[in-house]
Amino acid sequence: MKYVDEFRARDLAEGLAGAIRREAAPGRSYNIMEFCGGHTHAIFRYGVQDLMPSNVHYIHGPGCPVCVLPIGRIDNALELAERHKVILCTYGDMMRVPASGRRSLLKAKADGADVHMIYSTQDALRIAAENPTRQVVLFAIGFETTTPPTAIALKAAADRGLTNFSVFCNHVLTPAAIKEIVESPEVRDSARVAIDAFLGPSHVSSVIGSAPYEPFAKVYRRPVVIAGFEPLDVMQATLMAIRQLNDGRHEVENQYVRVVTREGNRKAQGVVDEVFELRPSFAWRGLGEVADSALRIRAEFAAFDAERRFEISPSTAREPKSCECPSILRGAKKPTDCKLFGNGCTPDNPIGSCMVSSEGACAAYWTYGRFRQPASGSEAAA
Ligand code: SF4
Repeated sequence: MKYVDEFRARDLAEGLAGAIRREAAPGRSYNIMEFCGGHTHAIFRYGVQDLMPSNVHYIHGPGCPVCVLPIGRIDNALELAERHKVILCTYGDMMRVPASGRRSLLKAKADGADVHMIYSTQDALRIAAENPTRQVVLFAIGFETTTPPTAIALKAAADRGLTNFSVFCNHVLTPAAIKEIVESPEVRDSARVAIDAFLGPSHVSSVIGSAPYEPFAKVYRRPVVIAGFEPLDVMQATLMAIRQLNDGRHEVENQYVRVVTREGNRKAQGVVDEVFELRPSFAWRGLGEVADSALRIRAEFAAFDAERRFEISPSTAREPKSCECPSILRGAKKPTDCKLFGNGCTPDNPIGSCMVSSEGACAAYWTYGRFRQPASGSEAAA
């Protein structure tokens, strides 16, 4: 298949692995955080870690939009469906994420709540048009990649004069989260978690461009290499990060030039700016409250804001006991550090969000069986 096989070619992978082995200085460690869950899965699925020398480590970051949503916001969505009796529209993964008391939207649906699994924001609009006597709420989640479709749906609802459609907005922003990770005590005290460089997200960067990472690389003196999701993308980006570290550079480089530009998708950015504004603070699972890290709906579109239309209770939700998702999302622990991993928590019976989503680190460990290998310490920070 053209344009896919090329990025999985064995001979090229061997060449890149050889270059990494030659250039990774034996006397030092290279701890590289892949922010995005898509990279985590590429690393596991294709055995990229196995091709690395023992001093090149991948640290899994929080880049799974399902995983980073705190339990309280899922409780809020349940409340919309159960107490306010709206038709709640959401993506498939969100239906299985455990909320408080191990409830979920899927269980709520089984109990009679009107929860619809959608494939696009346009499905939610269609459902609203077909049910004019019911309130329809789009449970919108995701990073910068999924924000433009939500903005377009909201604008379309306004243009059509839909009075029964609103958005429960949970869109979050990547650069603020990366900054928060570097400023976390675990990373500042680098004896606990060392992060030398980042693989920057690919799909997110196709929207926002590579420029937003430039202040971060400069201030925190960490290289950021925007990387695609195929195994050769990840390996080439790893080599680029190693070269920067060897040279003492800390720049933003773009491996994913076939999609990402420095300025990103201006049209998508424009529609997002029109509909959304920064929230002063937003709680992330694993990171806590992070300033300027999420979006809310502008006052001009208040009629389509579910948080204004419905009275939503402040949440006092807690993480499931013994679930290590928060530490895993900060890169401080790996899935096998959790005593529930495979011992009560599996993709068929998830206890935490990292086991639910197809981009979650626990799901990656379980699906690709890496936990069955002898512990090399390669996934943990040195
Ligand atoms: S194995 Fe399950 S309970 Fe443990 S951290 Fe992962 S998702 Fe949470």
